[in-house]
Amino acid sequence: MLRKRLIPPPDLFPVRPWSIEVTAVRRELISAYVGQAETAFALANGYLGVRGTHEEGRPSFEPGTFLNGFFEHRPIVYGESAYGFPRVGQSILNCPTGTLMRLYVDDEPFDLSQAEVLSFHRKLDFRSGMLRRDVTWETPLGSRLRLRSARLVSFHQRQLIAIDYELVLQHGEADIRIVSELINRRPLPVDTADPRMAQGFVGRVLEPLGTTVDGGRAILSFRTLSSGLTLGCGMDHVPETACHHDAGTTAEDDRATYVLKARAVGGEPIRLRKYLGYHYGAEAGAEEMRSRVAWTLDRAVEDGFPAIADRQRTFVEGFWERADVEVEGETTSEKQQIIRWNLFQLLQATARAEGHGVGARGLTGQTYEGHYFWDTEIYVLPFVIYTDPRAARQLLKHRYDMLDKARARARELHPPGATFPWRTLDGSEASAYYAAGTAQYHINADIMYALRKYVEITGDRDFLHDYGAEMLVETARFWVDLGSYRDGTPTRFCINGVTGPDEYTAVVNNNYFTNIMAQEHLRFAARAVGELEQENPQKFARLAEKTALDPSEREAWTRAADAMYLPYDEGRGIHPQDDSFLDKQVWDFEATPADHYPLLLHYHPLNLYRHQVIKQADTLLAMVLLSERFTLEEKKRSFDYYDPLTTHDSSLSVCIQSILANEIGYAEKAREYFNFAAAMDLADVGGNMKHGAHIASIGGTWLALVYGFGGLRDGSGVVRFKPRLPPAWSRLRFRLTVRGNRFVVDIRPERTTYELKSGPGLALEHEGEEVILTPDQPSVERGNAAQA
Ligand code: BGC
Repeated sequence: MLRKRLIPPPDLFPVRPWSIEVTAVRRELISAYVGQAETAFALANGYLGVRGTHEEGRPSFEPGTFLNGFFEHRPIVYGESAYGFPRVGQSILNCPTGTLMRLYVDDEPFDLSQAEVLSFHRKLDFRSGMLRRDVTWETPLGSRLRLRSARLVSFHQRQLIAIDYELVLQHGEADIRIVSELINRRPLPVDTADPRMAQGFVGRVLEPLGTTVDGGRAILSFRTLSSGLTLGCGMDHVPETACHHDAGTTAEDDRATYVLKARAVGGEPIRLRKYLGYHYGAEAGAEEMRSRVAWTLDRAVEDGFPAIADRQRTFVEGFWERADVEVEGETTSEKQQIIRWNLFQLLQATARAEGHGVGARGLTGQTYEGHYFWDTEIYVLPFVIYTDPRAARQLLKHRYDMLDKARARARELHPPGATFPWRTLDGSEASAYYAAGTAQYHINADIMYALRKYVEITGDRDFLHDYGAEMLVETARFWVDLGSYRDGTPTRFCINGVTGPDEYTAVVNNNYFTNIMAQEHLRFAARAVGELEQENPQKFARLAEKTALDPSEREAWTRAADAMYLPYDEGRGIHPQDDSFLDKQVWDFEATPADHYPLLLHYHPLNLYRHQVIKQADTLLAMVLLSERFTLEEKKRSFDYYDPLTTHDSSLSVCIQSILANEIGYAEKAREYFNFAAAMDLADVGGNMKHGAHIASIGGTWLALVYGFGGLRDGSGVVRFKPRLPPAWSRLRFRLTVRGNRFVVDIRPERTTYELKSGPGLALEHEGEEVILTPDQPSVERGNAAQA
């Protein structure tokens, strides 16, 4: 069930396969689209992100520069508190803005929303990894200028932003002033009515710790007052022009300014290259942070913009070789653009996140305080595992780095072992609403599900032995203690008082998704630890010592898994979402006005909790993640039951239901849901694209393409395909990497070709039949089963 309607992208966005572009400025539309444009044109590399605000800094909606994991604590104030509630939250900080380059011509400021703009073109190029703008401006005095800029957030040097700014006066002469700034702004006001928005801060957040000025360079340093992080950020400038010019730099605590004054002469370019460096950490003081920034700037100035841009292109080309997804067919050119924008967002959110997670909006906004959720493991990691195993390992290692805090949280909540936080930046639980936060214990199983996929698809057993096994031991322990055997009988292991993925149903007994995912988790833990003992007794001994592993524990995990209660309703032939779900009254959808969605903004949680109404795929998600455990009939019956109850008020939902719909032969529904998932941002389905890109839905779009239409299933590491293209598509082509083998899957309506591009060779399955790719026989073609 979906009540929203897709709005087409405005006509100003031409359809292009490798970019998104805006080709004109319409004054009446600027303010309406400024927020969306800041998200659409945001640049990031997983460590550093900057929203797509214009160089002039105006017009703007929520300008932002974010460093992954750079946050400040804030107290969580409860009207009525209770034991175990987190007292301290974490909020990602908006760092000093450095993309500002204000232009004055004969003292007239250039401001897009006021200026006489003769031509305008802005383009985010997915192949060069660069944002370009090309504007012709006629000043009030009649001078015409062409302004061109290119901006990138470097994938190669992750602390660097580089800007190439060029101005050419077409005729005559004019006085030019380019004021380039780095400013630490006060926090922006917050929409407190929307619980998804960051809570924000009032007053100063960053305490200034000194500045350095040297030629065209200025570096600022700060410290967060509570989280103890030191930030260094700086800018450097390289002007280049035959026109007469001079420049000066100043810096105060919160602001550095570089001013280039020039006497422009017609036809003579004035070019200013600006480099920005951002470093932060808990371990070093302000002086060292400023030095690190200086080294980043030294390297950038030495390399120069063209070399930095070349490296950017090379990096991004490598990404497309591993990760591109192409679609062909009647209605697909728009889709191709949307798909590539989505994939580019995944690159931007993950490529250089090393040491950090992936925020719910990546580095494109502050919604949900920049927190890391299960979104990373269930929605984003499959893509990363199949296209960039190195980055996938980093993301899982980041979870391992949180293990001590997860242990501490388990101690606080009493069960032994470890439990990962529902939402966090630094590893401690930051969820203030336990019913839709801490109670979502399924996050432990979600992380272990991703770990298992990583190990099976990459073959990286060292990671499993060195880090994974320890996480498995601690989290498996947690389940065994959290759950209990009903009536003391060893046959029914129940997990009570939990919340599943559907946040419109909270604190229930035996959420089906949680139980089945925990069951998989416990079995995986027992198996992995057993194999480690066989394969590497020394590592096993170290693990056993470190975790004080008792020989009986493995058996306890297996026993709980075997006895796991997986509720089933005989009458309806479905798995109830939890013990009480089917007893509740069905939500009155007929009487719910369209503008009351998302329901969470219009109804008290208790209204929702006492009804059968679902925010996002829950039982159906289990059927996608553990696809092999269900028959088609079971999937169909469950879809028929749960789909009409699902509001998709979370962006994590339609992508999943598209996959299931496709599998059970509901092609039209699959196509419709896919369209919504893919266009979640570029068509602003949720109406909140202005606050940042929905990274989980974006990852889910890839899942819907590859697991949905591509029919990929990979339980226990065997990679199987059952392709089912949407009727209007004539081709779907995607790339995957499995155990060091990079290959292309090229699906046409009647046949599929598998082509090995590099690697030693591997065996796949197509429609249940084995396909073997080797360097000698790299390409195999097979017929697809007839579509229903
Ligand atoms: C969803 C969660 C999700 C969070 C962050 C919520 O609306 O219900 O499942 O983790 O958003 O994306």
